[in-house]
Amino acid sequence: MPDDQQSGAAPIQPVLDAMRASLGPAGVLTDPADLAPYLTDWRGLYHGEAIAVLRPASTEEVSACVRLCAEHGIAIIPQGGNTSMVGGATPEARPRQVVLSLSRMNRVRQVDTADMTMTVEAGLILTRAQQVAAEHGVFFPLSLGAEGSAMIGGLLSTNAGGNMTVRYGNARDLMLGLEVVLPDGAVIHGLRRLRKDNTGYALRHLFVGAEGTLGIITAAVLRLFPAARETATALCAVPSEDAALALFRRFRAADEGAVRAFEYMSGQGMRLVMANIEGAAMPFATPGEHYVLVDLSASREGAGLRGMMEEVLEAAMEAGEVADAALAESEAQRVAIWRLREEHPEAQKRAGASVKNDVSVPVSAVPELIRRASAACLALIPGSRPVPFGHMGDGNIHMNLAQPEAMSATDFLARSHDIMDCVNAVVRDLGGSFSAEHGIGRLKTDMMEEWRGGAELAAMRAIKAALDPQGIMNPGKVLPHA
Ligand SMILES: Cc1cc2nc3c(=O)[nH]c(=O)nc-3n(C[C@H](O)[C@H](O)[C@H](O)COP(=O)(O)OP(=O)(O)OC[C@H]3O[C@@H](n4cnc5c(N)ncnc54)[C@H](O)[C@@H]3O)c2cc1C
Repeated sequence: MPDDQQSGAAPIQPVLDAMRASLGPAGVLTDPADLAPYLTDWRGLYHGEAIAVLRPASTEEVSACVRLCAEHGIAIIPQGGNTSMVGGATPEARPRQVVLSLSRMNRVRQVDTADMTMTVEAGLILTRAQQVAAEHGVFFPLSLGAEGSAMIGGLLSTNAGGNMTVRYGNARDLMLGLEVVLPDGAVIHGLRRLRKDNTGYALRHLFVGAEGTLGIITAAVLRLFPAARETATALCAVPSEDAALALFRRFRAADEGAVRAFEYMSGQGMRLVMANIEGAAMPFATPGEHYVLVDLSASREGAGLRGMMEEVLEAAMEAGEVADAALAESEAQRVAIWRLREEHPEAQKRAGASVKNDVSVPVSAVPELIRRASAACLALIPGSRPVPFGHMGDGNIHMNLAQPEAMSATDFLARSHDIMDCVNAVVRDLGGSFSAEHGIGRLKTDMMEEWRGGAELAAMRAIKAALDPQGIMNPGKVLPHA
């Protein structure tokens, strides 16, 4: 039982009874064993409390829950796949709050291959959205390491990026319309399938990237694209960060529209993957210190991507920008190459504690970012292992640091903020951002004042106060305490 009697607030039990009446028994979990997975993030860094997990199955049920919570001053933590890298979906240790899981709202409401749109509910898992698109002969391009768990509502709420942002943009760019339950339970019915819709403030864009602090996304209209009829994928060993960037420029110059992903990985990251991921295999005899993964696609058969890939790589080899390259000869080889990239987070997790810095700089500054931030981290914590990797084509590098083998995880994590400050000093100098795609959650709220203070933060607070005057939506996330 919650401690409402001590706080003098209205008792919780009648509210839970009312929620059960609305959602049915499967819709309200209160058993501590059932709650446990919703109260901890996947990295095991954050643990919180909730009096219940609500699992509505429709927009009307979400609205009914939110109305009850608003009436009784109960905070709501919206949760999708709980794969947030910044503790955004995990409750804090506060009384009178519920987790609202969207997992039962997972229907595909409509696929329209004439308009190239798909209307889906917020709890649809990303891989399922990709599959449904493929079953209709089209393509939904959002793709990231957590795609087997992350849900459309969570992906939009974090404005997720991922592997193909270089070509298709962030989650925001893939969304045309939204259905949202506001903090008082009112519903915005904005599932419009329009390419053009300049009718006042573009409210839909407020909720994308708001990390559940302004309302609950219950459904979305997503954009679809023609399926790829031809692909070419290569893993390249390159001599330096600058060579990696030069290779990106070569591919862009050859055919910008064909570049679907351009990912950077360090030798250190690859070593962690080899040591910790079963079945991971490097296609090169000699290990290197820098790698890039290039993925090309075209919606037309006979587009000549393989030839283009070979031509560009040959020229880059002649210029000393590529030391070795392995081209995927089959779908299995393509998957194996991508696995080396996608297993970076898991390999780091298995290698012990790590501090993650999801940062961005102008694309031209990526080599300098990697060099300067790695050196600064090594100077700060000798023996630590910089693991820079990620979306080079977007200027977005995960400047992660793995703990030294000779240091305890606790001691290392106690330096988290020093490490983030150290990386961020370089990022600031290069005109970058301290959070490129993971958002703020609870991990980075204390950086907001410094980076977004003044008029920007004041405008964010004004929006929050206007939409959520009671502050019940995902408290403690995104905005620092005033
Ligand atoms: C292995 C791995 C790889 C990753 N790679 C990437 C990557 O390449 N690019 C990238 O951008 N991210 C990446 N992430 C981070 C994460 O997957 C994304 O942030 C994802 O968008 C979160 O989706 P989710 O459903 O798990 O949301 P959750 O973690 O459940 O929630 C994320 C935030 O959104 C809020 N929220 C969730 N659902 C809703 C809703 N319906 N309405 C309102 N608010 C809601 C939550 O309160 C929370 O603040 C990765 C994570 C992992 C574990």
